Amino acid sequence: MTSSYDYIISGAGCAGLSLLYRMLQEPVLQHKKILVIDNAPKTKNDRTWCFWEKENSIFQSIIHHQWDQLNFRSNTYNAVLNIEPYNYKMLQGLDFYNYVMQAAQAFPNVKFIYETVTEIKSHQANAVVITNANVYSAQYVFNSIIFSKQKITKGLLQHFKGWLIKTEEPVFNASVATFMDFTVSQQHGTTFMYVLPTGNNVALVEYTLFTEELLKEDDYNNALKNYIHQQLQITQFELLHEEFGVIPMTAHSFVRTDGNIVNIGTAGGDTKGSSGYTFQFIQKRTAQIVTSVVKNQHPFKKASFVKRKFKLYDDVLLDVLQNKKMKGAELFTCIFQKNNPQTVLQFLDNETGLLQDLKIMSSVPMKIFLPVAIKKIFQAIFNN
Ligand SMILES: Cc1cc2nc3c(=O)[nH]c(=O)nc-3n(C[C@H](O)[C@H](O)[C@H](O)COP(=O)(O)OP(=O)(O)OC[C@H]3O[C@@H](n4cnc5c(N)ncnc54)[C@H](O)[C@@H]3O)c2cc1C
Repeated sequence: MTSSYDYIISGAGCAGLSLLYRMLQEPVLQHKKILVIDNAPKTKNDRTWCFWEKENSIFQSIIHHQWDQLNFRSNTYNAVLNIEPYNYKMLQGLDFYNYVMQAAQAFPNVKFIYETVTEIKSHQANAVVITNANVYSAQYVFNSIIFSKQKITKGLLQHFKGWLIKTEEPVFNASVATFMDFTVSQQHGTTFMYVLPTGNNVALVEYTLFTEELLKEDDYNNALKNYIHQQLQITQFELLHEEFGVIPMTAHSFVRTDGNIVNIGTAGGDTKGSSGYTFQFIQKRTAQIVTSVVKNQHPFKKASFVKRKFKLYDDVLLDVLQNKKMKGAELFTCIFQKNNPQTVLQFLDNETGLLQDLKIMSSVPMKIFLPVAIKKIFQAIFNN
């Protein structure tokens, strides 16, 4: 027999739990019958989210650390940038999962089940989720699962390995985060290090690449070891935690809705194709969904002109990097050196106006970018 709900949240990761938490803040939605499905409970600190924002969000109380200064480094430019009124923030995955799960415990109308979703179908009046064990239906299904049969346009992979290290001596400045250090070898393609100190002797050091293929495990470990020894001048440290991740950087147009199914998170196109940043886009998207549902409107909003504009910029930037028309280190150096950091962060957040966009564009070589932009505009026109 099919069990019925008002809403089903299929996939209880960043997008699913952000949506649930936001729904539970709304008196109109607090008593809705909500089913949350994932294939396993979240028990591990499987990822660290970093993002920037001006105002504190609903997750401020669980922010692990924040910085108002960012260091950008390449072979030709080195600067510590004051990003106020922005703060660059770090949120640990497990803190986020526990926080939302704990908040949901106060609502007996919210049910969690651990089953594997195999298919989701939209019907005229509802949508149906089929798992390895049961069938469930709801007015709307919010899905963040990418099914293996989905073919995603190949782009670049943002892959990274991070080591959380602890030193004996106080060697870090916890008020400055290294956002991008391109002084490392660029032999594989666009490659940089993050150094995110959360205390004067603890930091997350992350080796990050935008390339088509992953490296061997030893390559990540050796790069981290060399950087910690040679650049950070640290000879002895304790390895507290490791994280590895792969984020697709693609021009793929993800299907955002299909009748009563709304795709969210990476599955719904909320990962920015040219940077891999997702967390804040998930927050904006889930906030919009909740606003629509509260007003009894369909939760899906058609992409605005602004969204399509930034999709075009992302596709152009990705094409330039993927086809090696310009080195990532040079490109990001141009952008950070010639613009104020607040405008760059606003641009990466898809929040700049046309004049600011033009300023950013004028900081990169037009002879490289213009032909790619023209090609992408024609592709967009002929594909619609
Ligand atoms: C290690 C790592 C670090 C990252 N760091 C950042 C960062 O610093 N900043 C940033 O903006 N972005 C970051 N990202 C990118 C992005 O924010 C995350 O991937 C984010 O978790 C995406 O949210 P999501 O809800 O789309 O997917 P997920 O959080 O992966 O959630 C999907 C959920 O679906 C479940 N699931 C999958 N298949 C099934 C199935 N068949 N049946 C049932 N359940 C299923 C999974 O268990 C999971 O819980 C990072 C990604 C990774 C992997």
